[in-house]
Amino acid sequence: MTDTTSATTLLLCCRAGFEGECAAEIQTRAAEAGFAGFAKAKPDSGYVAFQPYGTDARAFAAALDFSALIFARQWIACGELLRELPVDDRVTPLLEAARGLADGPFGALRVETPDTNEAKALSAFCRPFEKAFAAAARKAGLLLDDARAPRLHLFFLSSAAGWAGVSQPGNSSDWPMGIPRLKMPHDAPSRSVLKLAEAFEFFMDREEQAEWLREGLTAVDLGACPGGWTWQLVQHGLQVTAIDNGAMDSRLMATGQVEHVQADGFVWRPSRPVHWLVCDMVEQPARVAALVADWLADGDAQRAMFNLKLPMKKRLDELEYCQHLIESRLQEAGKKIRRLAFRQLYHDR
Ligand code: SAM
Repeated sequence: MTDTTSATTLLLCCRAGFEGECAAEIQTRAAEAGFAGFAKAKPDSGYVAFQPYGTDARAFAAALDFSALIFARQWIACGELLRELPVDDRVTPLLEAARGLADGPFGALRVETPDTNEAKALSAFCRPFEKAFAAAARKAGLLLDDARAPRLHLFFLSSAAGWAGVSQPGNSSDWPMGIPRLKMPHDAPSRSVLKLAEAFEFFMDREEQAEWLREGLTAVDLGACPGGWTWQLVQHGLQVTAIDNGAMDSRLMATGQVEHVQADGFVWRPSRPVHWLVCDMVEQPARVAALVADWLADGDAQRAMFNLKLPMKKRLDELEYCQHLIESRLQEAGKKIRRLAFRQLYHDR
């Protein structure tokens, strides 16, 4: 198989309603990397189609860092949209479109749709189709099981229209549709446990998780009640100081790993430095960013995971402002930042 099909479009999957942010972000990242292109973003469609000028979408994606994107959950370099797939044989044209998107067999298959209510109805079509297509692709020598090889995506807008595309492991999301399927633990105090679980999964690899989330480490949770984030830290063996005037989950308190302090999270500081600061207080983003920066600059915490509730308008501008605020505060304090990254989480609803 040779890499001969051109990939004209980079599809970026995002939360429905955030297409504008996703488009603006990819335009900015493209310009920074010296590319020009055009982003098509239909409101509430759950995806953005970016067409880089004069560059194949695979080469364009390879020049950018997927993990640095905030609003894109997944990206897929695609050929043309196939609009009229025959009802009696959708497999053949999609196999043809897939052939040549990679210069060897694909290592996995993903049959996906935008994450919208309308597209949810398509899941009944996608599941059996995935089976049938995988069998045909294996027979054609296009599909193996290899986690390091490029992944083949079939992205359907309807049962008659879809793209074939490709993503590279290591520079894309490993999760189907870029969505981590996390189970709500039965004894968790709130759904917020999933937010922090997703953040840990997204921002840290297995080794970092083993090193940074383990017994013997300490954390402060600002705005902790009823205790979802604290629960997550406790599960990993950490000792947590939970700051909030509200009430903590009693089962969580019974673990003996939590000290609950009723205080203002913007004022309280620990008597000894902790390994982690986490913060889920609902406040102005710049206020939260400044607080986190102060903790890190003062050495009260070594690492932080925090939630910024963005305003309805100018979300990207607000994030850039928060980023600048944190960077300049730490620079002033002579502290080096190992990694500062933002992500719109699926489980933050
Ligand atoms: N992360 C929590 C969980 O997983 O269960 C949910 C936190 S909830 C979104 C926000 C919390 O921040 C509320 O419990 C609220 O009382 C607390 N909060 C807001 N402002 C605060 C402040 N200035 N100091 C301490 N807690 C504050």
